[in-house]
Amino acid sequence: MNDTSSSPVRKIIHVDMDAFYASVEQRDNPELRGKPLAVGGSAARGVVAAASYEARAFGVHSAMPSVTAKRKCPDLIFVPPRFDVYRAVSQQIREIFAEYTSMIEPLSLDEAYLDVTQNLKGMDIATEIALEIRTKIKQVTGLNASAGISYNKFLAKMASDLNKPNGQAVITPKHGPAFVETLPVKKFHGVGPATAERMHKYGIETGLDLKSKSLAFLQEHFGKAGPYFYGIARGIDERQVKPDRVRKSIGAEDTFAEDIDDLALATAELRPLAQKVWRYCETGGISAKTVTVKIKYSDFTQATRSRTSAYPVADMDEVLQIASALLATVHPFARPIRLLGITLSSLTNQESDDAGAQSQLDLGI
Ligand SMILES: [Mg+2]
Repeated sequence: MNDTSSSPVRKIIHVDMDAFYASVEQRDNPELRGKPLAVGGSAARGVVAAASYEARAFGVHSAMPSVTAKRKCPDLIFVPPRFDVYRAVSQQIREIFAEYTSMIEPLSLDEAYLDVTQNLKGMDIATEIALEIRTKIKQVTGLNASAGISYNKFLAKMASDLNKPNGQAVITPKHGPAFVETLPVKKFHGVGPATAERMHKYGIETGLDLKSKSLAFLQEHFGKAGPYFYGIARGIDERQVKPDRVRKSIGAEDTFAEDIDDLALATAELRPLAQKVWRYCETGGISAKTVTVKIKYSDFTQATRSRTSAYPVADMDEVLQIASALLATVHPFARPIRLLGITLSSLTNQESDDAGAQSQLDLGI
């Protein structure tokens, strides 16, 4: 008789390229090496897509408005992104992963989870697999990768940050729960700024604080994410590595600290959502014809409005324009708005051959 308690501990690796876009640019242009570099637009409304470590030393990071980045680092060099090159490198990396396992779940062009519990090389030690993979990535692409090794996705992801850049770390079942207790919740994968702010309101600052809350409390205040938070506070995350899922939609949503009653204020909240979903389209080489806006009111009733165009949306501004128009159709609002979301669907992947290697993305947890 088999029960779940006798199943072997899983071996999960999270591989994350170091400053990926910026490192590719420095690799391909020696004049950029050792210099503070931002990939992205330098125009007034541009955003940093990736920053080199030299730029990060000045406090520049991805998603920062270019104007702010330039103020923090006056010598910052802006380079336009070359997504075709990043996608080609990403494909090389995935081929290396595939030598070890078919259980590969890409999160973006430069990050993936691998389940190596059963692996194609019959290797027992996941840290050795991670080291081999990083060495091969360096040989093939000339780029550095970091890795986290653990018994679930959440901890593997947290671990890959510990010895970055060009390092790896392991979190064992023995150390997982204690590791989580000391972490600030705002650093948890799956806890965005809005959620961190709400946790803060309930006095939850660390993993230990989170662990002190009951499952019922977390479900009441964080809905579907409640059980996930309850688990990770204990170092538990049962989510499987999901290979080969074809993505159907890309979504982002945000719950507000205070409900919003005003159309202009609500419309302003659409911009970061549009940026998030558009960024994912760009990095994944994906286009979308349908834009959907989800509106959840203070009484938890919900409305959605969609528009499908004959051609894929062209840029972030168009996503924002359509979403704003859709939101305006439900104004005056039935109730104050508690949550807004934007989802892109009717997707086409420009790289037809690797559609199967993409995973469903939920930017919101
Ligand atoms: Mg990375």
